[in-house]
Amino acid sequence: MGVKFQDYYEVLGITKNASEKEIKTAYRKLARKFHPDLHAADEKEAAEKKFKQINEAYEVLIDQEKRQKYDNLGKSYQAGEEFRPDMEGMYYSSPDTDSGFSDFFDMLFGGFRPGNSAPGREQRFHRAPRRGQDVEAELTLTLEEAYRGAEKTIQLNVSDLCTRCGGSGISGRQFCPGCAGSGQIQTPRTLTVKIPPGTGDNTKIRLRGQGSGEEGGRGDLYLKVHILPHSGYRVAGDDLESELVIAPWQAVLGAKVSAATLDGKVQVTVPAGTRAGKKLRLRGKGLPKKDGSRGDQYLSIVIDIPRQPGEEELTLWRKLAEAQAAREVS
Ligand SMILES: [Zn+2]
Repeated sequence: MGVKFQDYYEVLGITKNASEKEIKTAYRKLARKFHPDLHAADEKEAAEKKFKQINEAYEVLIDQEKRQKYDNLGKSYQAGEEFRPDMEGMYYSSPDTDSGFSDFFDMLFGGFRPGNSAPGREQRFHRAPRRGQDVEAELTLTLEEAYRGAEKTIQLNVSDLCTRCGGSGISGRQFCPGCAGSGQIQTPRTLTVKIPPGTGDNTKIRLRGQGSGEEGGRGDLYLKVHILPHSGYRVAGDDLESELVIAPWQAVLGAKVSAATLDGKVQVTVPAGTRAGKKLRLRGKGLPKKDGSRGDQYLSIVIDIPRQPGEEELTLWRKLAEAQAAREVS
Protein backbone atom coordinates (compact mmCIF):
# COMPACT_ATOMS: atom_id res chain seq x y z
CA MET A 1 0.00 0.00 0.00
CA GLY A 2 2.92 2.25 0.72
CA VAL A 3 1.75 4.74 3.26
CA LYS A 4 4.80 6.43 4.71
CA PHE A 5 5.18 7.79 8.17
CA GLN A 6 5.40 11.56 8.00
CA ASP A 7 7.47 13.75 10.27
CA TYR A 8 5.19 16.69 10.88
CA TYR A 9 7.80 18.43 13.03
CA GLU A 10 10.22 18.32 10.15
CA VAL A 11 7.56 19.70 7.81
CA LEU A 12 7.13 22.75 10.03
CA GLY A 13 10.86 22.92 10.84
CA ILE A 14 10.36 22.78 14.59
CA THR A 15 11.54 20.60 17.44
CA LYS A 16 9.49 17.83 19.01
CA ASN A 17 8.83 19.91 22.11
CA ALA A 18 7.79 23.07 20.29
CA SER A 19 5.20 25.17 22.12
CA GLU A 20 1.82 26.08 20.69
CA LYS A 21 3.14 29.54 19.95
CA GLU A 22 6.17 28.19 18.09
CA ILE A 23 3.93 25.91 16.05
CA LYS A 24 1.72 28.84 15.09
CA THR A 25 4.63 31.06 14.18
CA ALA A 26 6.28 28.37 12.07
CA TYR A 27 2.99 27.59 10.36
CA ARG A 28 2.19 31.22 9.50
CA LYS A 29 5.63 31.79 8.06
CA LEU A 30 5.55 28.68 5.89
CA ALA A 31 1.94 29.07 4.85
CA ARG A 32 2.69 32.54 3.55
CA LYS A 33 5.80 31.34 1.77
CA PHE A 34 4.12 28.43 0.01
CA HIS A 35 0.67 29.81 -0.61
CA PRO A 36 -0.19 28.62 -4.15
CA ASP A 37 -1.59 32.02 -5.15
CA LEU A 38 1.78 33.61 -4.66
CA HIS A 39 3.52 31.35 -7.13
CA ALA A 40 3.85 31.43 -10.87
CA ALA A 41 2.28 28.68 -12.95
CA ASP A 42 5.45 26.58 -13.21
CA GLU A 43 5.92 26.56 -9.43
CA LYS A 44 2.28 26.40 -8.49
CA GLU A 45 1.94 22.63 -8.29
CA ALA A 46 4.98 22.15 -6.09
CA ALA A 47 3.89 24.99 -3.83
CA GLU A 48 0.41 23.53 -3.55
CA LYS A 49 1.82 20.18 -2.48
CA LYS A 50 4.02 21.77 0.12
CA PHE A 51 1.16 24.00 1.29
CA LYS A 52 -1.02 20.95 1.86
CA GLN A 53 1.71 19.26 3.89
CA ILE A 54 2.13 22.33 6.04
CA ASN A 55 -1.58 22.55 6.70
CA GLU A 56 -1.79 18.91 7.57
CA ALA A 57 1.17 19.11 9.96
CA TYR A 58 -0.39 22.14 11.60
CA GLU A 59 -3.79 20.46 11.88
CA VAL A 60 -2.22 17.62 13.82
CA LEU A 61 0.31 19.45 15.99
CA ILE A 62 -1.94 22.33 17.06
CA ASP A 63 -4.60 19.91 18.30
CA GLN A 64 -3.33 18.50 21.58
CA GLU A 65 -5.33 15.35 21.23
CA LYS A 66 -4.10 14.60 17.72
CA ARG A 67 -0.58 15.62 18.61
CA GLN A 68 -0.51 13.21 21.52
CA LYS A 69 -1.73 10.36 19.39
CA TYR A 70 0.82 11.20 16.72
CA ASP A 71 3.63 11.50 19.27
CA ASN A 72 2.76 8.18 20.90
CA LEU A 73 2.99 6.43 17.57
CA GLY A 74 5.94 8.49 16.38
CA LYS A 75 8.16 7.01 19.08
CA SER A 76 8.36 3.79 17.11
CA TYR A 77 8.51 5.17 13.55
CA GLN A 78 11.06 7.00 11.44
CA ALA A 79 10.10 9.57 8.82
CA GLY A 80 9.47 7.84 5.49
CA GLU A 81 9.22 4.41 7.09
CA GLU A 82 6.34 2.33 5.90
CA PHE A 83 3.42 2.93 8.22
CA ARG A 84 1.55 -0.26 9.02
CA PRO A 85 -0.28 -0.13 12.29
CA ASP A 86 -2.78 -2.67 10.99
CA MET A 87 -3.76 -5.48 13.19
CA GLU A 88 -5.20 -8.84 12.54
CA GLY A 89 -8.80 -8.91 11.50
CA MET A 90 -8.83 -5.21 10.68
CA TYR A 91 -7.99 -3.54 7.47
CA TYR A 92 -7.62 -0.02 6.42
CA SER A 93 -10.32 1.45 4.26
CA SER A 94 -10.00 4.80 2.65
CA PRO A 95 -12.74 7.23 3.60
CA ASP A 96 -15.34 7.53 0.85
CA THR A 97 -14.92 11.24 0.61
CA ASP A 98 -11.56 12.82 -0.01
CA SER A 99 -10.60 14.41 3.27
CA GLY A 100 -8.03 16.61 1.57
CA PHE A 101 -5.34 15.10 3.75
CA SER A 102 -2.71 12.48 3.03
CA ASP A 103 -3.36 8.75 3.33
CA PHE A 104 -1.09 8.80 6.35
CA PHE A 105 -3.34 11.33 8.06
CA ASP A 106 -6.50 9.43 7.12
CA MET A 107 -5.01 6.22 8.39
CA LEU A 108 -4.00 7.79 11.66
CA PHE A 109 -7.13 9.81 12.32
CA GLY A 110 -9.76 8.66 9.93
CA GLY A 111 -9.87 5.26 8.34
CA PHE A 112 -10.23 3.15 11.43
CA ARG A 113 -12.67 5.24 13.32
CA PRO A 114 -15.87 3.31 13.52
CA GLY A 115 -18.70 5.41 12.17
CA ASN A 116 -16.41 8.32 11.53
CA SER A 117 -14.92 7.93 8.12
CA ALA A 118 -13.40 11.37 7.76
CA PRO A 119 -11.53 13.28 10.43
CA GLY A 120 -14.04 15.21 12.49
CA ARG A 121 -13.86 18.80 11.39
CA GLU A 122 -15.80 19.91 14.42
CA GLN A 123 -13.04 18.47 16.58
CA ARG A 124 -10.36 20.48 14.90
CA PHE A 125 -9.79 23.02 17.57
CA HIS A 126 -10.46 21.01 20.68
CA ARG A 127 -7.86 21.09 23.37
CA ALA A 128 -7.14 17.98 25.44
CA PRO A 129 -7.81 17.01 28.10
CA ARG A 130 -11.37 17.79 27.36
CA ARG A 131 -14.49 16.77 29.14
CA GLY A 132 -16.70 14.18 27.50
CA GLN A 133 -19.67 15.28 25.48
CA ASP A 134 -23.14 15.67 26.86
CA VAL A 135 -25.49 13.00 25.63
CA GLU A 136 -29.20 13.35 25.10
CA ALA A 137 -31.62 10.45 25.17
CA GLU A 138 -35.39 10.20 25.18
CA LEU A 139 -37.29 8.90 28.17
CA THR A 140 -40.85 7.77 27.59
CA LEU A 141 -43.29 8.02 30.48
CA THR A 142 -46.96 7.37 30.93
CA LEU A 143 -49.01 10.33 32.05
CA GLU A 144 -49.42 8.77 35.49
CA GLU A 145 -45.67 8.20 35.86
CA ALA A 146 -44.95 11.79 34.91
CA TYR A 147 -47.61 13.08 37.29
CA ARG A 148 -46.94 10.90 40.31
CA GLY A 149 -43.22 10.42 39.85
CA ALA A 150 -41.58 7.09 39.20
CA GLU A 151 -38.38 5.14 39.23
CA LYS A 152 -37.33 3.97 35.78
CA THR A 153 -34.51 1.70 34.76
CA ILE A 154 -33.01 2.62 31.42
CA GLN A 155 -30.31 1.07 29.30
CA LEU A 156 -28.24 2.96 26.79
CA ASN A 157 -24.89 2.86 25.07
CA VAL A 158 -22.55 5.70 25.89
CA SER A 159 -19.07 6.17 24.56
CA ASP A 160 -16.34 5.94 27.14
CA LEU A 161 -12.59 6.24 27.29
CA CYS A 162 -11.01 2.99 26.16
CA THR A 163 -9.53 1.36 29.25
CA ARG A 164 -6.97 -0.59 27.24
CA CYS A 165 -5.14 2.40 25.83
CA GLY A 166 -6.42 5.12 28.14
CA GLY A 167 -7.89 6.99 25.19
CA SER A 168 -4.71 7.37 23.12
CA GLY A 169 -5.91 4.86 20.53
CA ILE A 170 -2.34 3.58 20.25
CA SER A 171 -0.69 0.50 21.61
CA GLY A 172 3.02 0.36 20.73
CA ARG A 173 3.33 0.42 16.94
CA GLN A 174 -0.28 -0.47 16.48
CA PHE A 175 -3.73 0.90 16.83
CA CYS A 176 -5.26 -0.23 20.07
CA PRO A 177 -7.21 -3.45 19.42
CA GLY A 178 -9.69 -2.52 22.13
CA CYS A 179 -11.01 0.57 20.37
CA ALA A 180 -9.62 0.27 16.81
CA GLY A 181 -7.61 3.44 17.35
CA SER A 182 -10.48 5.74 18.22
CA GLY A 183 -9.67 5.86 21.94
CA GLN A 184 -13.34 5.41 22.65
CA ILE A 185 -15.50 2.39 23.25
CA GLN A 186 -19.25 2.07 23.43
CA THR A 187 -20.28 0.72 26.79
CA PRO A 188 -23.78 -0.31 27.75
CA ARG A 189 -24.99 1.41 30.87
CA THR A 190 -27.96 0.61 33.05
CA LEU A 191 -29.25 3.51 35.07
CA THR A 192 -32.03 3.88 37.57
CA VAL A 193 -33.61 7.29 37.25
CA LYS A 194 -35.90 8.92 39.76
CA ILE A 195 -38.63 10.87 37.99
CA PRO A 196 -39.83 13.68 40.23
CA PRO A 197 -43.61 14.02 40.58
CA GLY A 198 -45.06 16.59 38.21
CA THR A 199 -42.55 16.10 35.40
CA GLY A 200 -43.88 17.76 32.26
CA ASP A 201 -43.65 16.77 28.62
CA ASN A 202 -40.32 17.80 26.99
CA THR A 203 -38.73 18.37 30.39
CA LYS A 204 -35.03 17.57 30.46
CA ILE A 205 -33.70 15.57 33.36
CA ARG A 206 -29.98 16.01 33.86
CA LEU A 207 -27.84 13.18 35.11
CA ARG A 208 -24.48 14.59 36.01
CA GLY A 209 -21.44 12.67 34.80
CA GLN A 210 -23.38 10.05 32.83
CA GLY A 211 -22.48 11.33 29.36
CA SER A 212 -19.50 10.39 27.20
CA GLY A 213 -16.19 9.81 28.89
CA GLU A 214 -12.95 11.58 27.93
CA GLU A 215 -9.66 12.33 29.65
CA GLY A 216 -11.15 15.43 31.24
CA GLY A 217 -14.10 13.63 32.76
CA ARG A 218 -17.55 12.59 31.72
CA GLY A 219 -20.18 14.80 30.19
CA ASP A 220 -23.74 14.87 31.40
CA LEU A 221 -26.68 12.83 30.24
CA TYR A 222 -29.90 14.66 29.47
CA LEU A 223 -33.09 12.67 29.39
CA LYS A 224 -35.80 14.36 27.40
CA VAL A 225 -39.18 13.36 28.73
CA HIS A 226 -41.78 12.24 26.25
CA ILE A 227 -45.22 11.60 27.72
CA LEU A 228 -47.13 8.86 25.97
CA PRO A 229 -50.61 9.62 24.67
CA HIS A 230 -53.19 8.55 27.22
CA SER A 231 -56.46 6.84 26.41
CA GLY A 232 -58.40 8.95 28.90
CA TYR A 233 -56.71 12.35 28.78
CA ARG A 234 -55.44 14.79 26.23
CA VAL A 235 -52.61 16.98 27.46
CA ALA A 236 -52.88 20.65 26.51
CA GLY A 237 -49.97 22.41 28.18
CA ASP A 238 -50.67 22.23 31.90
CA ASP A 239 -54.33 21.44 31.31
CA LEU A 240 -55.94 18.09 30.74
CA GLU A 241 -58.99 17.31 28.67
CA SER A 242 -61.21 14.29 29.10
CA GLU A 243 -64.70 13.21 28.21
CA LEU A 244 -67.60 12.95 30.63
CA VAL A 245 -70.29 10.62 29.40
CA ILE A 246 -73.79 11.28 30.77
CA ALA A 247 -77.29 9.99 30.04
CA PRO A 248 -79.84 12.15 28.20
CA TRP A 249 -81.98 12.60 31.33
CA GLN A 250 -78.90 13.64 33.34
CA ALA A 251 -78.25 16.27 30.70
CA VAL A 252 -81.84 17.53 30.86
CA LEU A 253 -82.46 17.27 34.60
CA GLY A 254 -78.95 17.82 35.90
CA ALA A 255 -77.09 15.27 38.01
CA LYS A 256 -74.23 14.51 40.28
CA VAL A 257 -71.85 12.11 38.51
CA SER A 258 -68.39 10.84 39.20
CA ALA A 259 -65.47 11.78 36.95
CA ALA A 260 -61.95 10.37 36.77
CA THR A 261 -59.01 12.67 37.54
CA LEU A 262 -55.32 11.96 38.07
CA ASP A 263 -56.05 12.11 41.80
CA GLY A 264 -58.85 9.56 41.57
CA LYS A 265 -62.62 9.94 41.19
CA VAL A 266 -64.38 13.16 42.08
CA GLN A 267 -68.06 14.13 42.24
CA VAL A 268 -69.10 16.57 39.55
CA THR A 269 -72.35 18.51 39.36
CA VAL A 270 -73.79 18.53 35.86
CA PRO A 271 -76.17 21.49 35.63
CA ALA A 272 -79.70 20.97 34.29
CA GLY A 273 -79.86 21.65 30.53
CA THR A 274 -76.28 20.68 29.78
CA ARG A 275 -75.66 20.25 26.05
CA ALA A 276 -73.25 17.83 24.40
CA GLY A 277 -69.81 19.38 23.90
CA LYS A 278 -70.14 21.74 26.86
CA LYS A 279 -66.99 21.91 28.93
CA LEU A 280 -66.95 21.68 32.68
CA ARG A 281 -63.87 22.92 34.42
CA LEU A 282 -62.26 21.09 37.32
CA ARG A 283 -59.99 23.68 38.83
CA GLY A 284 -56.51 22.52 39.82
CA LYS A 285 -56.91 19.00 38.50
CA GLY A 286 -54.49 19.45 35.61
CA LEU A 287 -50.74 18.96 35.53
CA PRO A 288 -48.36 20.63 37.96
CA LYS A 289 -46.96 23.97 36.83
CA LYS A 290 -43.47 25.29 37.42
CA ASP A 291 -44.74 27.71 40.08
CA GLY A 292 -46.16 24.84 42.13
CA SER A 293 -49.79 25.45 41.21
CA ARG A 294 -51.69 23.19 38.87
CA GLY A 295 -53.50 23.48 35.58
CA ASP A 296 -57.17 22.60 35.17
CA GLN A 297 -58.98 19.60 33.82
CA TYR A 298 -61.76 20.17 31.31
CA LEU A 299 -64.57 17.66 31.06
CA SER A 300 -66.12 17.61 27.65
CA ILE A 301 -69.75 16.45 27.88
CA VAL A 302 -70.76 13.47 25.76
CA ILE A 303 -74.41 12.38 25.85
CA ASP A 304 -74.86 8.71 25.27
CA ILE A 305 -78.07 6.74 24.88
CA PRO A 306 -78.98 3.62 26.82
CA ARG A 307 -77.93 0.34 25.22
CA GLN A 308 -80.69 -2.18 24.49
CA PRO A 309 -83.55 -0.35 26.24
CA GLY A 310 -86.26 -2.57 27.76
CA GLU A 311 -89.94 -2.44 26.82
CA GLU A 312 -90.78 -0.16 29.76
CA GLU A 313 -88.04 2.27 28.80
CA LEU A 314 -89.12 2.29 25.18
CA THR A 315 -92.67 3.11 26.28
CA LEU A 316 -91.34 6.07 28.23
CA TRP A 317 -89.22 7.29 25.31
CA ARG A 318 -92.31 7.09 23.08
CA LYS A 319 -94.24 9.18 25.61
CA LEU A 320 -91.40 11.64 25.66
CA ALA A 321 -91.51 11.84 21.88
CA GLU A 322 -95.30 12.42 21.91
CA ALA A 323 -94.97 15.16 24.51
CA GLN A 324 -92.25 16.82 22.49
CA ALA A 325 -94.37 16.64 19.32
CA ALA A 326 -97.44 18.06 21.12
CA ARG A 327 -95.32 20.94 22.41
CA GLU A 328 -94.11 21.77 18.92
CA VAL A 329 -97.69 21.79 17.53
CA SER A 330 -99.11 24.11 20.17
ZN1 LIG B 1 -8.05 1.70 23.03
